[in-house]
Amino acid sequence: MSYVTEIFGSMVFNDSVMKERLPKDTYKALKKTIENGESLNINVANVVANAMKDWAIEKGATHFTHWFQPMTGITAEKHDSFISVTSDGDVIMEFSGKELIKGEPDASSFPSGGLRSTFEARGYTAWDPTSYAFIKDSALCIPTAFCSYGGEVLDKKTPLLRSIEVINEQSMRILKLFGDNNTKRVITTMGTEQEYFLVDTEMFNKRKDLFYTGRTLFGAKPPKGQELDDHYFGAIKPRVSAFMKDLNHELWKLGILAKTEHNEVAPAQHELAPIFTNVNLACDHNQLTMEMLKKVADKHGLSCLLHEKPFAGINGSGKHNNWSLSTNDGINLLEPGKSPRENARFLLFLCAVIKAVDEYQDLLKVSVSTAGNDHRLGGNEAPPAIISIFLGDELSAVLESIEGDTAYVKEYNRELTVGVDAIPIIRRDTTDRNRTSPFAFTGNKFEFRMVGSKLSIAGPNTVLNTTVAEELSQFADILESSDDFTTALNNLIKETIKNHKRIIFNGNNYSDEWVKEAEKRGLLNLKSTPESLPYLSTDKNIRMFEKFKIFSEKELNSRLEIHLEDYCKTINIEALTMLEMVKKDVLLAVSSYIKHLSETASVKKSLISDVNCDVEISIVTKLSLLLNSLYKKTEAFENLMLNVKEFDDLQKEAEFCRNNIFIAMQEIRAVVDELEANTAEQYWPFPTYGDILFSVK
Ligand code: ADP
Ligand code: MG
Repeated sequence: MSYVTEIFGSMVFNDSVMKERLPKDTYKALKKTIENGESLNINVANVVANAMKDWAIEKGATHFTHWFQPMTGITAEKHDSFISVTSDGDVIMEFSGKELIKGEPDASSFPSGGLRSTFEARGYTAWDPTSYAFIKDSALCIPTAFCSYGGEVLDKKTPLLRSIEVINEQSMRILKLFGDNNTKRVITTMGTEQEYFLVDTEMFNKRKDLFYTGRTLFGAKPPKGQELDDHYFGAIKPRVSAFMKDLNHELWKLGILAKTEHNEVAPAQHELAPIFTNVNLACDHNQLTMEMLKKVADKHGLSCLLHEKPFAGINGSGKHNNWSLSTNDGINLLEPGKSPRENARFLLFLCAVIKAVDEYQDLLKVSVSTAGNDHRLGGNEAPPAIISIFLGDELSAVLESIEGDTAYVKEYNRELTVGVDAIPIIRRDTTDRNRTSPFAFTGNKFEFRMVGSKLSIAGPNTVLNTTVAEELSQFADILESSDDFTTALNNLIKETIKNHKRIIFNGNNYSDEWVKEAEKRGLLNLKSTPESLPYLSTDKNIRMFEKFKIFSEKELNSRLEIHLEDYCKTINIEALTMLEMVKKDVLLAVSSYIKHLSETASVKKSLISDVNCDVEISIVTKLSLLLNSLYKKTEAFENLMLNVKEFDDLQKEAEFCRNNIFIAMQEIRAVVDELEANTAEQYWPFPTYGDILFSVK
């Protein structure tokens, strides 16, 4: 056995461990729960819990924890040790089925968006047996969903799990219509490419902005940035390579399929991609990956930056969300087939995605909107804020021919009838070239590229699954009630293309022409988080989520509140950090340099009375002017900040943060960057962009 196969999944209570350690009927009962969602009997749970505990103790674990994903976007855990005391006063290690199935953490310190005040502070966590338990830091971690006592969702996992069920049910209806009676389940598959920056911890610690906000609030442009494109796929530096080796080791132990890693476009930027898996596991794995990135970096004296835009003028980081649907037998439903029937099925699923993305552009945008990601979307490096789909020329031509009844396949010399004619093979190479598209078809999956690097993928995938399920349910309603399946199918696909082709765009998404064109097409262009968020709870969207019991109206409103609050708090922390850096560091640094220059000039003058001090005078004049301007802007900014307290409407507060505070911060930054460019390095109080970006050798 190779080293990798030996360690892979060694810290996971996975299927093979279950098979090996559980009695046959317990294993069977648990499998039924995992595969069909049947509820687990407490006796079975007791046996599973005991086996898990024994296994975990053998691996060195002393504690267990319900591991959950509250609205903070990161994971939460509260450790309890396995120890119990017997009547004789001896310590034994115990773990019951009850403890496995349900936990009762205090929910009061997690964001609830108002749900909490009307219910008990306590919430409960419920075991999600579809994601394997694992050991991390000597604790047996049990993946769980997190709800309030009233049953309202307080986490990101619950809606995702619900959406996985919903898209399964609706896809199954479609498969039945195609005469498929073998498939038992349709699974959402997901591969999450993760981008991040690595910088030296010594540099990181000297930057309060990185420390408090995750991004630099100042920083003059370095002489060299990413213009030479010499970092992309370049040789990996030894320190980074050692880090990656360690990281892979940790991820593999947790059963995470870390596969490819390479340097990204920007200096100090890297990417890690796992092999795809089902979306629930992929989501858990991505959360764990982000945690491990930070932890392993620390061990190497490095700091991992997961912020979407740590450096201005340098590419930000995203997460490519590769999404597809697969049958339990591994048939990819978004793969063009070989026979007319397979192709018809492919086209129908494709149309469902096209219609979903067109009708729910707003929700997709909401699902990726955060203060951090606002810097990225629309910044001519990442996808724009306008959502459109890239299909590639070949597939677009097929759809055009279907819509217009025109000949596409030359040998037929007539129109192409869905379900009767084969469509030509779509070559994968031609589908993967447009890097500017926010939502690209890449041969057998869709790549949603707007997700921010720090964001949980649960939200975007809940939206994708639910909206596509909504379209599939509409399609199934129509097809189930038709007498002539092929004709109904042909018409349905034709109609869908006609009505929703405005969302398809194969050109350059960064161009100004596209912004104009998109407006003509009536597509949304929601540039910021405060502009996007209200769409979360419009009537149309409430109806859709309620129809599938993903969110109630109340839960949606609570989420809206949480997102708005998060936005305002983020901007507020950035604003306070900026003020602190200006007042405590920048002002002193620049005046020290001014003093140095002035003293130099006066010493020179005292030595040689008619000496020329033009250089000192010119720099001192320039710096003094800038410093005055900075001071005035800072004072005005402090007054502006006082206004935030006046709002009792979160939406208005968020808009104020965006339109006033955020804008004022950019103005202050411009002056500070100009000061940096004109101040001697030894006086400047923070490491420069050059120092940070090229800090890892
Ligand atoms: P690239 O985008 O660099 O060309 P790939 O297309 O091979 O690389 O894969 C990118 C990501 O998409 C990987 O995480 C991969 O596992 C994932 N992926 C590939 N096929 C599927 C699929 N059917 N469903 C979901 N993700 C997939
Ligand atoms: Mg990709």
